[in-house]
Amino acid sequence: MTNTEPASSTAAQAAPKGAAAAPLEFRGVSKRYPGQETPAINDLSFTVPAGEVCVLVGPSGCGKTTAMRLVNRMIDLSDGDILLDDRSVMDRNPTELRREIGYVIQQIGLFPHLTINGNMAVVPRLLGWDKKRATARSAELLELIGLPAEMGRRYPSQLSGGQRQRVGVARALAADPPLMLMDEPFGAIDPINRDRLQNQFLRLQSELRKTIVFVTHDIDEAIKMGDKIAILREGGELVQYDSPDAILANPANDFVAQFVGADRGLKRLALTRLSEVELADRESSGGEQMSDESLRTEASLRDGLSRMMTESSSREVVFDGDGQPAGYVTMDIIQAVLREGRHDSVANQPA
Ligand code: ADP
Ligand code: MG
Repeated sequence: MTNTEPASSTAAQAAPKGAAAAPLEFRGVSKRYPGQETPAINDLSFTVPAGEVCVLVGPSGCGKTTAMRLVNRMIDLSDGDILLDDRSVMDRNPTELRREIGYVIQQIGLFPHLTINGNMAVVPRLLGWDKKRATARSAELLELIGLPAEMGRRYPSQLSGGQRQRVGVARALAADPPLMLMDEPFGAIDPINRDRLQNQFLRLQSELRKTIVFVTHDIDEAIKMGDKIAILREGGELVQYDSPDAILANPANDFVAQFVGADRGLKRLALTRLSEVELADRESSGGEQMSDESLRTEASLRDGLSRMMTESSSREVVFDGDGQPAGYVTMDIIQAVLREGRHDSVANQPA
């Protein structure tokens, strides 16, 4: 598609605000567990540019957690190499490496006998920060994740599941790591709260611009969260690595097509904002009046299609940020966008 890069990937090129983010590269990585016939990870290669979110997605057992644990050396690889900031993780002291990498898991493992502030200060203190600096950082982190300062004095059992998960994210951010590993971080949260956590996380990431490897088995979560998606299948094989839009437009094979679902066209429409396409009949839309229900340019093409279906119409007027008519979204525009992707087939395998 032309000029319809998701906003997130454009923003990812902006200079990181505050601390650094480092690129991460998997270079021909394999992992065979002792006594297992098939490798858990097989010749995995891909690069995550600094400040981008890469989502590893695939069915249970395809090696997602293994790939994460190879990065922070909770387990060691059998073949290949992993480079963080162009430096092999194999040359690093595992303990030091782990303190430099934020790690968020589903059972976040907050220490029950420490307060929330205490939990967030653990890694900074291990890194030698004095108490005053660690305390100030805890306060800053609570504010960052939108929890009142008072909650810092509570114990984990006195928070809801969603709040604890946010603290888990904050704690991983405490020492301002150049890389975050997030293994199904919102997997145990109910759908409504998961949606909120995802949105909050995306807002946070738009400011922090960390390099993030995010694991999920849920393709919709992958599409929502990822600048890039790596689709894995059983045996730890990388099937496709590309932007969500490119994967939805051009699944590399039947496995990916099935995995992303029959409604991939609709999913793609949800990724594209009305502001990103050329609307029709700009001039003749001048007389339309905006109401609360009106389509706005920040809505998606999917919202536009949905409105046309509800109204049994073939075009709907769209209003810009100043409340002025920007033109019409039409069935033709939607069909053209869906057709477009099928031709600009890119090489989906990593270089
Ligand atoms: P995912 O996170 O995608 O569900 P995992 O990385 O946990 O997958 O597991 C990948 C494969 O490696 C699975 O077949 C699993 O059974 C196997 N595996 C994981 N951990 C170990 C281990 N410690 N010893 C042996 N096999 C393991
Ligand atoms: Mg796993």
